[in-house]
Amino acid sequence: MDVNDNKENGGKNTGSKLLVLLIALGMMMPMFCNWEQYVPTNLQGGASWVASGLLLVLMCAFVWVNRRKQWLCLPPTRQLLPFVGVCIVLTLVTSPHIMLSPSAFCHCLVILVLVVTSLWLLMRRYSLILLAPIMLVGMFETGAHFRFKILLNSMLLAEALECSKDELMTYVTVTNISMLIAGVAFVAGVLYLLCRVITPMSKRSLGGLLLAMAALLYMMFPMLTDTYTNISHLGTFGTCKRSFRMFRDIKRASGAVGEYIESLPSPAEKPSEMPLLKDDDGCVIVFHIGESVRADRCGFNGYERDTTPNLSANPRLINWERCVASGHTTVNCLAALLTDARRDLDDINESNQEMKATCGSVMDLFKANGFAVHSFYGAFNRQSMRADKVLRMLTSASDERHYTNNDVMETVEQVKRCLQKTGNKNVFMFINNEGSHTHFYMYDQKNPPFTPSLHVVNTSPRYGDAIRNAYDNTIHYTDKFVHRVLEQLKGRPYVYVYVSDHGEYIGDYNGTWGRGKAISERSFFFSTQGGSGVSAFAVASPEYEQLNPQFAQAVAQLKESRRMTIGHEHFFHTLLGLVGMKTPYYNAELDLCSPEAKPYTGPEPEDWPDYLSPDK
Ligand SMILES: [Zn+2]
Repeated sequence: MDVNDNKENGGKNTGSKLLVLLIALGMMMPMFCNWEQYVPTNLQGGASWVASGLLLVLMCAFVWVNRRKQWLCLPPTRQLLPFVGVCIVLTLVTSPHIMLSPSAFCHCLVILVLVVTSLWLLMRRYSLILLAPIMLVGMFETGAHFRFKILLNSMLLAEALECSKDELMTYVTVTNISMLIAGVAFVAGVLYLLCRVITPMSKRSLGGLLLAMAALLYMMFPMLTDTYTNISHLGTFGTCKRSFRMFRDIKRASGAVGEYIESLPSPAEKPSEMPLLKDDDGCVIVFHIGESVRADRCGFNGYERDTTPNLSANPRLINWERCVASGHTTVNCLAALLTDARRDLDDINESNQEMKATCGSVMDLFKANGFAVHSFYGAFNRQSMRADKVLRMLTSASDERHYTNNDVMETVEQVKRCLQKTGNKNVFMFINNEGSHTHFYMYDQKNPPFTPSLHVVNTSPRYGDAIRNAYDNTIHYTDKFVHRVLEQLKGRPYVYVYVSDHGEYIGDYNGTWGRGKAISERSFFFSTQGGSGVSAFAVASPEYEQLNPQFAQAVAQLKESRRMTIGHEHFFHTLLGLVGMKTPYYNAELDLCSPEAKPYTGPEPEDWPDYLSPDK
């Protein structure tokens, strides 16, 4: 024990007295406060008169013995002040919650001191090996929160795994790399400083500091704003918790959807028939699963900007203004749309809630009933690190797969060739391409309809309008794409069914971008139409209606169903209804061409704009 320490920590040491006071206050706090607030999940069982009283007695005894034996004290001011100073800097740059609610600053600071002190006590200098990555992740989170208004979560990682290499490369910019290098250098510098200021502290004063911080946190807990019900979400605790969860969830989920799809029986295993269609009717059913297209940004739904001039002018367009997505990742939505999966409405707010299916892909049924099955993908599907595998399983009935190399318009030519090749056979076409996926680049960039448009990852408010223009341009491009495919289908009995997989936040909802916020606040996802209100429409040709009076009836019924709020659950059964497929998996209540169709009744956005009002 060094001389200073001895002198500072004698019987008259002020630090020691302060420590006693803090601990005593901490222990007595529940007696003056609302008991309810002292029963958070992190302090389970710690809040009862008996427990608190017992703790107080124990602490008094400890304090008495501590004074005589000189076990613990507080560090002297000249050591404490620089240490706290460094911790304040670290808290400011590594706690995204401070931007979310500045009142959480003190909590975050106390947590950081607690973590640093305990790690140092246990591991001394080696604690930096643990601290450095935590601080870096915290800084990364703060930066991401600053730009995208999101916290670290598995959605973020899932989205990164979903996007193509090209998309990922858009993040590799000089600015981002320089920011990363600067961040690493900054954290290294602060940690070096931390090392310098904490080294002279004795074990006794570090122990005292640890105890004092624990008592402080105990006292401060009820002062936490309503946003946080648990201190484990805050500061360094939160960073660790979120990082751990993110990797756990993604590890669990990465194979899970694929394994789940594999485990489902094919609907074609049970007998099915299609009495209304003959093999040489030449009927074409197109199922286009769109990317990230929100209902409220489509001109045909009443959006003030005409993002869909071709479809708006199409007299045969049947658009559902209110369609609620089943999830917020492409993989899950693809699985929900192609199988008979339904959400469990009793358990809808469970964050791990998955849609449960009883059979595999609807495409198997079309194949089993004599359809030629062709799938058309964007370049993005082939490059995608995660979605590709699941999509391949779901579309395994495909006779042929067509990929584009660059532009989605290449598909138009592929569709043309496919129609020539299949002659008068019935054809099922599945389409899933770039659509309006981030970073909103799939449009004619030399000649964009809405300017200025910017397809960048930078989402600072300065670029907000230009990026939203780019988003609208992608929808305009999809409109052109659908129009061109419809031209190829002209003269054939066809039904083109389109539904987007999920929505997208485009700087609205308090500056939210992407879908990262959706998983951490599932209710947020359901309460905003930016998250879950997706574009959905169908176009049926007159030749299709002429094939069979029941098909004309189906189209009339589809038009009727426009008034309904629908969900992803409807599409599997509607595709079957369109061709009059008879299978034990068919449910007329979810078939929009059936008079028995029932609307979607699960959670839906509370903020549909007025123009998305089917009842108007
Ligand atoms: Zn998607």
